[in-house]
Amino acid sequence: MQRPDTQTYAQQFPKLPPTATDAQGHLVYTQFIDGGFTRAGGARLATSDPVTGRQWASIARGTAQDVDTAVQAAHRAFTRGAWPAMNASQRGALLRRIGDLVAEHAEWLAHVEQRDNGKLSAELSMQMRYMANYYYYYGGLADKMEGTVIPTDKPGVFNYTVYEPLGVVACITPWNSPLPLASMKIAPALAAGNTVVLKPSEFTSASLLELMKLFQLAGVPEGVVNVVTGLGAEVGATLVDHPLVQRIAFTGGPEAGQRINEQAASRMKRVTLELGGKSPNIVFDDADFEQALKGAVAGIFAASGQTCVAGSRLLLQDGIHDRFLERLVEIAGSARFGHPADPQTQVAPISTAPQLGKIESYVQVALADGARLVAGGKRAHVPECPDGLFFQPTIFADVDNRMRIAQEEVFGPILSVIRFKDEDEAVAIANDVDFGLAAGVWTTSMPRALRMAGKVRAGTVWVNNYRSTSVTSPFGGFKMSGVGRECGIAGMREYMEIKSVWLSMETDIPNPFVRR
Ligand code: NAD
Repeated sequence: MQRPDTQTYAQQFPKLPPTATDAQGHLVYTQFIDGGFTRAGGARLATSDPVTGRQWASIARGTAQDVDTAVQAAHRAFTRGAWPAMNASQRGALLRRIGDLVAEHAEWLAHVEQRDNGKLSAELSMQMRYMANYYYYYGGLADKMEGTVIPTDKPGVFNYTVYEPLGVVACITPWNSPLPLASMKIAPALAAGNTVVLKPSEFTSASLLELMKLFQLAGVPEGVVNVVTGLGAEVGATLVDHPLVQRIAFTGGPEAGQRINEQAASRMKRVTLELGGKSPNIVFDDADFEQALKGAVAGIFAASGQTCVAGSRLLLQDGIHDRFLERLVEIAGSARFGHPADPQTQVAPISTAPQLGKIESYVQVALADGARLVAGGKRAHVPECPDGLFFQPTIFADVDNRMRIAQEEVFGPILSVIRFKDEDEAVAIANDVDFGLAAGVWTTSMPRALRMAGKVRAGTVWVNNYRSTSVTSPFGGFKMSGVGRECGIAGMREYMEIKSVWLSMETDIPNPFVRR
């Protein structure tokens, strides 16, 4: 399977200005600050293709100075010029123009994203086409954030509320779904009237810089959106600390999330933290067996388990446990590895070399704790991608929920299978974890489905499906899985402050020494 040559493929999208290359033919991405791409120069970071293990591009290793330049640009854009002069309807129209350009360039964005994170074309193409909806949805919502007139109990005053933007918003994103996770932040932030500085993952920055070309084409005013690339400890931490940044919207691991939350607290900055999970996928004896099997596979082996909502703990009720596990082992053992651009491929490479190392280390952790390895457990050699970072779909049986493999997020294709007797035990196991991002329930009993949806402590509960998400529905975590919500109307409110305005209808202020 051959993927199209990136530079040749780029010519099929003539509206996009080309990205320069270096002497070795690697694309040279620069930062996007104050409406334009910066000049190449300074330290750079290599960005490599998980399919070949080889470098295909480089990005700028941003500095504290770059962060300050970008935040100052975003602050200027927020306080004066074209952006604050636009009304909410005009912002909405601009977002819808971005949506049209995203839809038009979806295949190109999918190509670039795949070079960085190696995800399946089948999933990426769908994700990129869907991404236009973030801009359409929040474009539509921009002029519908209505305040209220409060029938207050105080005489002689008229009181109303309005939603206002916060100012400069910092968005920090991980490598598993770089563009959707960035768009989930940019679209509501702009719809609300904020300006933005983004820091993408150092492993997957290219696609966001391609997206910025579309923002230029759409006519986004200078400084409204900026991208500073580089390392988390350098660019990310400096951005979080910058005094002009009002809110941090972060998606990533719990460790970085906790550190950001602490840093933000010292200046009372608002945060949205979308962190990891250890989600239970719970199958009852009365479930539709074949559908639940598909749900278990989708939960942990789709995207090689590199999704925050991975159903990495499979809870199986006694009656179906053995039969279900046997079928799952067969499916895991027969999954097709291959080039992610090949439509027949089911298992694509792991996105980064450090992540592959982490996955391998967790196999040892599980074995040391006494879990029984029943499928996978090793790197996979794939002849058509001999240097690809592949890992076998892996299943551990006889897992006790207190084992580390059941408590800690791996972010890879490792499934822990846990047995349970009844509903109460399923709920107890499901909730006995620090995280609370998502959960799956498989049952044909509607009363049980409703009871379980009510009792499981997670931000999203799927009944008889897994991994459905939509821009229209709020998404986020309970407990250590995060703070706040993205998507839906709730996602838009995160980027706004509510203001209460009091107008006097009287000509005389009564006794000023006494509160009215
Ligand atoms: P990560 O936390 O290592 O990095 C995420 C981003 O934060 C990167 O851009 C990184 O450079 C930056 N960063 C790291 N340290 C920082 C610091 N101290 N200050 C500021 N920025 C910093 O996560 P990752 O390995 O890129 O992604 C995997 C993690 O993301 C998993 O834990 C996964 O569950 C989580 N994730 C969550 C969701 C969700 O919506 N809940 C979605 C996708 C991924």
